[in-house]
Amino acid sequence: MQTITSSSEAIELEDKYGAHNYHPLPVVLAKGEGVFLWDVEGKKYYDFLSAYSAVNQGHCHPRIKNALIEQANTLTLTSRAFHNDVLGPFEKYVTEYFGFDKVLPMNTGAEGVETAIKIARKWGYEKKGVAENNAKIIVAENNFHGRTTTIISFSNDENARKNFGPYTDGFIRIPYNNVEALGEALKQPGVVAFLVEPIQGEAGVYVPDEGYLSKANELCKSNQVLFIADEIQTGIARTGKLLAVDHENVKPDMVILGKAISGGFYPVSAVLADNHVMEVIKPGQHGSTFGGNPLGAKVAMAALEVVQDEKLAENAQILGEIFRNRMQKVVDKYAIAKLVRGKGLLNAVVINDSEESSTAWDICMSLASHGLLAKPTHGNIIRFAPPLVMTEEQIHECCDIIEKVISEFDKK
Ligand code: PLP
Repeated sequence: MQTITSSSEAIELEDKYGAHNYHPLPVVLAKGEGVFLWDVEGKKYYDFLSAYSAVNQGHCHPRIKNALIEQANTLTLTSRAFHNDVLGPFEKYVTEYFGFDKVLPMNTGAEGVETAIKIARKWGYEKKGVAENNAKIIVAENNFHGRTTTIISFSNDENARKNFGPYTDGFIRIPYNNVEALGEALKQPGVVAFLVEPIQGEAGVYVPDEGYLSKANELCKSNQVLFIADEIQTGIARTGKLLAVDHENVKPDMVILGKAISGGFYPVSAVLADNHVMEVIKPGQHGSTFGGNPLGAKVAMAALEVVQDEKLAENAQILGEIFRNRMQKVVDKYAIAKLVRGKGLLNAVVINDSEESSTAWDICMSLASHGLLAKPTHGNIIRFAPPLVMTEEQIHECCDIIEKVISEFDKK
């Protein structure tokens, strides 16, 4: 392997040999620890993206790392053609942890979503009696659930969809945060599920009105429709509770987890459901070579233990309040900052400029030069989502950096 000695060298290699399917900030990271990242030149940064909320436990958490090494020395992959001695304990642990009867483990978030869609359709045909090939799943506008052909079929992000058709049928898209629209859509024949993000992360951290999730859940229950929460980004303590639906004491029929369930060490995703739903899946009907492998299972257990033992949900709740209070003062003081919103440590500051402007990107570039990494999502929105192991002192220091950079842009 070519040893990288400068950021520009690494960027040139990616540019020449890699598909251009991302537009990253020009920062080349070489090391991570807790809330910090270091680039190739040794510059230290606060991480305010957490790999899109996959490293809630902080970078290279020693407990998760040790679990990974121990298991890697023992057994990594058997496939599900045989049993392995970690899968059962993991399944017991994760179902008790989240309060469901059963789990179906996969690898990436998008696979988790695909799994939930398949389970919901099959449940619709076999338990609800929906006519063959007529199952419909309600989704929200501006959703983000991943990148597979079926998932982009129900996206309304043209960049994600265009020229990837033909698209998969069977989805009804309604406005987010709109209970009436859900009620109307539920009247259509063949509806089997409502798939929703409890907070729309990629869309720009849109927090729905209080009561939306519980009312949506009730409507689904009364219409014999499965309420599916995609907690891939919002789950695992990110929003100040273990799951974002916990803020409204909602128990979905299915929960999809990914990202931080393995603390950034290894791709693990999972669909949780009770028996009456999960039992529709029989041998040979769904699976994945790597899903439920002992390495991922061990890592995920360690990652979930860390969340509990280090009280990360509580910390996210406290630090989130501090962050939004500090940012509200910034919004009040500087016209360039339009508003702050979020829950726990999943927050966004909306920049007072058009979606097409480069201001948010330029602010992120300036934040990087001041030692803080964040990325715009959708033009003029900057998401701020640090690892949940941050301290109060650190979040204040970070707010100082953000305020300084925003104040400089305000003068421009
Ligand atoms: N669902 C949500 C809510 C997400 O935020 C994401 C990723 O950002 C996904 C699904 C897809 O996860 P993955 O990138 O692991 O496929």
